[in-house]
Amino acid sequence: MKLFNSITGKKVEFVPIVANEIKMYACGPTVYNYFHVGNARTFMVFDAMRKYFEYRGYNVTFVQNFTDVDDKIINKAKEEKTTTEVVSEKYIKEYFFDADLLGINRADSHPKVTENMQEIIEFISLLIDKGYAYAVEGDVYFDVSKYEEYGKLSKQNLDELRAGARVETKEIKRGPLDFALWKTAKEGEPRWEAKWGKGRPGWHIECSAMIKKTFGGTIDIHGGGSDLKFPHHENEIAQSEALTGKPLANFWIHVGFLNIDNKKMSKSLDNFFTVREIQEEFDLEVIRFFLLSAHYRSPLNFGRELVESSQRGLERLYNAKNNLAYLIKHAEDIPFTKNENKWTSELVLFREKFILEMDDDFNTANGIAVIFDLVKHINSNITGQTSTRALKLAHAVLVELCGVLGLLLEKEEESLEEEIEKLIKTRQQARKDKDFEKADKIRGRLLDKGIFLEDTPSGVKWSRK
Ligand code: AMP
Ligand code: ZN
Repeated sequence: MKLFNSITGKKVEFVPIVANEIKMYACGPTVYNYFHVGNARTFMVFDAMRKYFEYRGYNVTFVQNFTDVDDKIINKAKEEKTTTEVVSEKYIKEYFFDADLLGINRADSHPKVTENMQEIIEFISLLIDKGYAYAVEGDVYFDVSKYEEYGKLSKQNLDELRAGARVETKEIKRGPLDFALWKTAKEGEPRWEAKWGKGRPGWHIECSAMIKKTFGGTIDIHGGGSDLKFPHHENEIAQSEALTGKPLANFWIHVGFLNIDNKKMSKSLDNFFTVREIQEEFDLEVIRFFLLSAHYRSPLNFGRELVESSQRGLERLYNAKNNLAYLIKHAEDIPFTKNENKWTSELVLFREKFILEMDDDFNTANGIAVIFDLVKHINSNITGQTSTRALKLAHAVLVELCGVLGLLLEKEEESLEEEIEKLIKTRQQARKDKDFEKADKIRGRLLDKGIFLEDTPSGVKWSRK
């Protein structure tokens, strides 16, 4: 399998450190809001990669953190007159709700900053002892001038960076590129005790500390969205490699942006759609299909027409699967005949082609194209006289390949009901807010799922078709 390694800029054969074992870490969300479709793209890519590695027989340990100490969380807590714990716990729960509907599996662990404070403090302490970090007025900074390889991931010109660095009013750093490992707590902020002063960690140190704690040494794959390359991943490398003298990760994977009108979808540009609001209109499996329909390194534009086209694409896959299931169920037990040999034995060629495409730097776009070719192949060969065995073979390959991408999976009844209840609640709120257009859209979404709503004096009742 070949993967593009963004630290070398080359696509090379991927060989894990230990045969058949993959240690993989992706930077997770800062939990102060619902996540948007751009974030979803990055989470989705790592989830799909993990599923694919497992399909190829690797044993994967996948870790994705939650940043639960951050300015944005502190501000949100202030706004809502509550604690940072309440804010982060709420959005961790909401993350899992949306991730589940997107078919993103739980990582093997989801470490939080608040639960790794001792490891973070210990890490910083070791960096100070080794002379890579210094404490000043209760803050601690990483001394970039001490780490010679700084810039090797993002290939930045350090002189230009230094010249362009923002000069803070309270300039206590030794060098303009030095970054905070620890920040003195301001009034009313969460704080932890460390020997250089009470405060909280900077953002970058958490991932270095969590990787050290979970995996010990070098990991196989580390990644996130392309915006994390600099400074976040560059700083993670500096911290970890300064401390251990070993590579933090062998492969660096960076996911291309999900754009709106060719601009990165982001909270700061206010051009984002949360996954929560999208599900009022689209099944999140459509969003999964849409996000995987492009190669993970290419930019992908988000727009209604494109999502609707994904919806039609996914429908074609469902139709093929349901048609086969129907024929299998209702056809008499038609015996297999010799002339079915050719097309059924060709089914495995689609599996081989799919693997070939996915092995080429995880090309889900081409992988999906192979699945559509498979559907064409199946549709042009099945008739009312096709044997049960041939139908089952075709069904199995289709479900297998789609399943690798997390598509066409059977949903569990429990999560389905939770989704319906949540949609009904959102619709009730929309009606209260007199947003009848939104309320109608949600009713339509539920109807698509075969759910009828009845507004009764004792509340909304729902039933299935
Ligand atoms: P954040 O919560 O902002 O730290 O983002 C969580 C993850 O989403 C990070 O890996 C980001 O790089 C990624 N991300 C943010 N915006 C986008 C986008 N528009 N397209 C793809 N990935 C994104
Ligand atoms: Zn990180």
